Amino acid sequence: QLSKRLHYVASYIKKGMKIADIGSDHAYLPCYAIKQGTASFAVAGEIAEGPFRSAKEQVEKVQLGHLIDVRKGDGLEVVEPKEVDCIVIAGMGGPLIAQILDSGKEKLDGVSRLVLQPNIGAEHIRHWLLENGWKLIDEQILEEDGKIYEVLAAERGFPSKPYNPGELLLGPFLLKKKNRVFEKKWLSELKVWQNILNSMDKSKGRPETEKKKQELLKKMAIVKEA
Ligand code: SAM
Repeated sequence: QLSKRLHYVASYIKKGMKIADIGSDHAYLPCYAIKQGTASFAVAGEIAEGPFRSAKEQVEKVQLGHLIDVRKGDGLEVVEPKEVDCIVIAGMGGPLIAQILDSGKEKLDGVSRLVLQPNIGAEHIRHWLLENGWKLIDEQILEEDGKIYEVLAAERGFPSKPYNPGELLLGPFLLKKKNRVFEKKWLSELKVWQNILNSMDKSKGRPETEKKKQELLKKMAIVKEA
């Protein structure tokens, strides 16, 4: 049974696509996408020995070794140039996802779609996309087991106008939809930030505290306006 989060991720894989799932852990996503008949071939990339072995075992268990290649390595180094047309990176922090994309830029040649699922810090990915010639085509926000996740789908190109600070932080599509989960996430973030601000007041006067405080106040203003 695939998680709701990975279902959302899989829904952005187009029929016939060759995919690479980077940080694949148990390889649940590529196994599902191949079984469903959406992906035609998959690379499951993993940096860590334990998850790499789990991925290999899972692929063998479902007898999909001829369509899913499990490879050990860091980020996009496991992919050959022009080998896949869709890259999936799910279940990590936004800064790590952006860093994996940035260090493997030369492997993105031939890739037409990115499906990214940050657990936190999605704005780092939106900045990276904008700076590297990718535009969001859709976004989702969902709640599962008390946790909130975002899913970002992007294709090559530039948005009709660059994202503004509110769109970068909250997501241009999510901001338009403004659903219940979106409200829940940002109301809870506001509370966390307010608590941080309160504790900062105790150490006020230090330049680094003042800078952090200004950044938080800016983000809080964006969220409150939304
Ligand atoms: N993608 C799966 C999902 O969404 O359920 C697994 C997410 S799991 C929390 C993150 C996985 O990414 C871990 O197995 C970790 O070893 C792997 N990982 C972290 N950094 C990586 C990197 N630079 N290259 C490849 N795998 C990485």
